[in-house]
Amino acid sequence: MTEDVHDLVIAGSGIAGLSAAVYAARADLDPLLLEGDEPGGQLTLTTDVENYLGFPDGVGGMELVQRGKSQAEQFGAEFQHGRIESATLDGQPLELSLSTGDTIRTRALVVATGASARWVGAENEAELMGHGLSTCATCDGAFHRGDDVLVVGGGDSAMEEALFLAKFADSVTVVHRREELRASEIMADRVREHENVRVRWNTELEAIHGSQEEGVTGATLVSHPDGFPREKAESGTDVERETVDVGGVFYAVGHTPNTEFLDGTGVERDGEGYVRTRTDETGRPTTNTAVNGVFAAGDVADPAYRQAITAAGTGSMAALDAEQFLETLAEEAQSPVETPA
Ligand SMILES: Cc1cc2nc3c(=O)[nH]c(=O)nc-3n(C[C@H](O)[C@H](O)[C@H](O)COP(=O)(O)OP(=O)(O)OC[C@H]3O[C@@H](n4cnc5c(N)ncnc54)[C@H](O)[C@@H]3O)c2cc1C
Repeated sequence: MTEDVHDLVIAGSGIAGLSAAVYAARADLDPLLLEGDEPGGQLTLTTDVENYLGFPDGVGGMELVQRGKSQAEQFGAEFQHGRIESATLDGQPLELSLSTGDTIRTRALVVATGASARWVGAENEAELMGHGLSTCATCDGAFHRGDDVLVVGGGDSAMEEALFLAKFADSVTVVHRREELRASEIMADRVREHENVRVRWNTELEAIHGSQEEGVTGATLVSHPDGFPREKAESGTDVERETVDVGGVFYAVGHTPNTEFLDGTGVERDGEGYVRTRTDETGRPTTNTAVNGVFAAGDVADPAYRQAITAAGTGSMAALDAEQFLETLAEEAQSPVETPA
């Protein structure tokens, strides 16, 4: 085994990757953590995390991941910029090609690459993304003091974004294509009770107006009393159209797992792209993927819960599974199986 082969690389610096890094570093595996394009992951997009165990008064998302990073570094984890663009995982060592042009070799890999925000396909969204259109209220909310803004979506993320934006904006309108929210009752109640937030039911965003110089100036909304108005408009049904003056639009319509770099590698994924992990021979859930030495943790393998605490939990499991794999690999290297003459 040569020096330029790492024992363990962790792809992703969200809470799953950080948790894996803490466990792996404490086990002397000298993990290398690749930060990806979003250092700290999704938690950097939120202000208050109230449901993470051990913080009775809540904790800032950014603070939580910064504390995790310090903890991992304290035990010897290394951090490196860069995103994995492709991987060759069909034998030892595993090989990872990065966006920086580097190639990294490793005996084990934890995939903790999370999920990315989805866009809704409204007219002008590509031009206006980052110019008044955003997928991150925490990042961009403060630019909208005194504006009227739209939030597109109906789940917990959309409610959180709307409540956060209400701190800055004059009014927040949640645009939802159905007549009931997917959000948890507690979050939906907070939105309903907030005087600056209202929900427009059975309504979708069709187009965003503005320019890169001026930012967002308005939006065209379509409505139909039976919901899903864009689908209805496309099939020729009459819908109501209204142009509203808004200074900002925020998308909060879910995420896509960041697993494209696993194309052609043998790592199994479900129809949405979430990595499938396996049970062992006794039926115990593990973080093992279909490829030997590759483990998955956090939102990238979790279409159901997608919480900070579950991501941190599976991060620790992945490090423990990787540690066991590396021990077996080392034992096999010391006593190679003899092939019959
Ligand atoms: C607005 C918002 C509020 C939230 N609030 C809460 C809350 O209050 N409580 C709660 O429990 N959960 C909350 N969540 C959910 C929580 O943030 C996620 O469940 C958690 O961050 C998932 O962690 P993760 O490490 O799996 O993935 P992520 O946090 O998504 O991190 C993924 C990491 O992988 C990196 N990456 C991506 N692709 C690659 C690649 N190809 N190569 C290398 N690296 C890559 C990214 O740069 C990033 O660092 C919230 C989420 C959002 C968006």
